Amino acid sequence: MFEPSALIDSMLDAVARRRGESARMRAVTSRVAEFASPTQARLAALAQDPDARTIADQFIDSWWSDAQRQQRTLDRADIGEVIIGAGFHAAVYAAVRVRAGNPKPLVLEASGRTGGTFAMTERPVFHLNSHTRPGLAGPAGDADANLNYLPGAPIQTDHLPSAGEYQTNTDMALVIRLALAQYADVVTNASVSSVGGDDDGVLVETEDGPAVLAQRVIDARGIGDPVSAKLTNGTTITTFGQFMARMATIWPLRGIRRAAVIGGGDSGKCAVEALLELGPQPFVSAAGLDHVNRIDWYAADLPATCEQWQIQMRGRYQAIGHFLRLGSRGGQRLTVIARRANPVAVPDGALVDGRMYDLVVLCVGNTETTIDGLEFDAFGEYTINDGTSIARKHVDQPVFRVGPHARLPFNYQERQDGVADLPGNAVSMFRTSGKTAALAATLPSLTRN
Ligand SMILES: Cc1cc2nc3c(=O)[nH]c(=O)nc-3n(C[C@H](O)[C@H](O)[C@H](O)COP(=O)(O)OP(=O)(O)OC[C@H]3O[C@@H](n4cnc5c(N)ncnc54)[C@H](O)[C@@H]3O)c2cc1C
Repeated sequence: MFEPSALIDSMLDAVARRRGESARMRAVTSRVAEFASPTQARLAALAQDPDARTIADQFIDSWWSDAQRQQRTLDRADIGEVIIGAGFHAAVYAAVRVRAGNPKPLVLEASGRTGGTFAMTERPVFHLNSHTRPGLAGPAGDADANLNYLPGAPIQTDHLPSAGEYQTNTDMALVIRLALAQYADVVTNASVSSVGGDDDGVLVETEDGPAVLAQRVIDARGIGDPVSAKLTNGTTITTFGQFMARMATIWPLRGIRRAAVIGGGDSGKCAVEALLELGPQPFVSAAGLDHVNRIDWYAADLPATCEQWQIQMRGRYQAIGHFLRLGSRGGQRLTVIARRANPVAVPDGALVDGRMYDLVVLCVGNTETTIDGLEFDAFGEYTINDGTSIARKHVDQPVFRVGPHARLPFNYQERQDGVADLPGNAVSMFRTSGKTAALAATLPSLTRN
């Protein structure tokens, strides 16, 4: 039987007190017998109701950021495993570990909000590019697999409101956050700055904060910070994250008539979708008031015509291609320019290659955050009995890198399954979730010295 954690229990009570049970929530709880437990039905019910979700989100954030609770958590003498970063892989590791009978790990998260990349906003701002389907996880290309499956989580993306084939970032964030709420102790606003020790213990230090002594560290720092952060001013030149934060506000496209996006990966595509109003609907918007007339997309490897786009692009991004042809009034809204470009901020806008824009969004990749003692070349590939490489292990400390941050090369099976055909899959969560789950399932239990 699923026993809710103290946090999940208190959060559900808070939602019930402040929101009651809305018609949407009642509709789900009327099917309680079809869920694995009543708690899971209640969690799926709250996911249906935007106001209940907001209450739950706020409750969870304030629970984890409460100073006294943080102090009690950090003062515990029996800290065994520490996870760096509170994203998807932290949740996978914690869920599998605890479901196998181990104590809850302690998660240290640099930001004020857990959920990693998918939690960059509280409102939905981009669609996932991996399918949510009913059922268990499997390789990309398996038509019966749910690619957004989080092993061991209290609820899965397929318990959430149907949103066509591709759910939103906040749907995935909710699944991650609830898994952490169930299976981990979390301290937010705790940025790990250095890690050092040996097999007897590892000292994990945080910036301007306390240090904890752990027996094992799981480094789940994720895809890191934008490489372009120094080039942006946050208003006319933004990173992808800053632009998405803007998309979560009211009238996000106000005053933007001409925009440029630099970079053609998944972030660039999601930014272009937002500018073309193909992404999740903003909280408040009116197409007639705030219409971006022209988007120049500086990206070296993208098709430039609608016809080429339809042939070369996978289904998820097909809709963008229609904007690469002339519109009914002769103008073309979206143009792909096969050049690398650097923006320059000028009053009221930004220049790229001598052209003036109201907004430039830089989507040119990420670089891992720095932690002293955990440099990449101090790690080697870590394999399990069947020869599969599932993580990286530090050469002389009980520290493991997991997820995209482990930078594992595509293996034979992934090439056979077609996962390696898309370079972007190197960092996709569905590619690495099974590996992290395998690590959590196979590492020995810790015993106190
Ligand atoms: C726009 C976009 C769309 C995507 N869509 C998909 C998709 O549809 N399907 C898919 O499979 N994948 C997708 N991905 C990839 C997916 O985001 C990653 O695979 C996934 O987020 C990796 O999870 P993670 O937990 O390793 O890292 P992250 O989600 O990046 O989380 C890492 C966490 O670590 C924290 N952190 C970093 N440094 C420190 C430190 N020093 N101390 C403490 N905490 C720290 C960060 O604040 C962050 O919260 C997408 C990525 C982007 C950018």
